[in-house]
Amino acid sequence: MNNNKIIAVDFDGTIVEDAYPEIGKVKLFAFDTLKKLQSKGYRLILWTYRYGRRLNEAVEFCRQNGVEFYAANNSFEGETFDPAAQSRKIHADYFIDDRNLGGFPGWGEIYEIIKYKIEFDIEGKEVIPYSKRKSQKKEGFFSRLFGK
Ligand SMILES: [Mg+2]
Repeated sequence: MNNNKIIAVDFDGTIVEDAYPEIGKVKLFAFDTLKKLQSKGYRLILWTYRYGRRLNEAVEFCRQNGVEFYAANNSFEGETFDPAAQSRKIHADYFIDDRNLGGFPGWGEIYEIIKYKIEFDIEGKEVIPYSKRKSQKKEGFFSRLFGK
């Protein structure tokens, strides 16, 4: 599948355990998922608090683990950030970050969300909302809230 979707990915606490300024242990399935996404045409941007030497270390670490980013802390490679002319927020279709509301779901679940919600959407297939698929396995929101 070819698509032009851009995914911005955080580093500390997302790709690796948060051990900033050191590089923590790789999170389970992080690089497998990122490589799989790249193979499906997603462009990955590293979107992190790191800059300078610490940023380079993270980029190099990911490269050694088989993931080359489309850009790091920019919307595209070589972009020069001008705060007078543009917003600091990068352009991306999806953000993967351990600071997401609701917490970090884990890479297995992230891949599932992308596969069953986003790809089906891109292909024009019927999308089963992730929340519905979840509720097929678990009790619904109201029964969890008001049930015994
Ligand atoms: Mg983080």
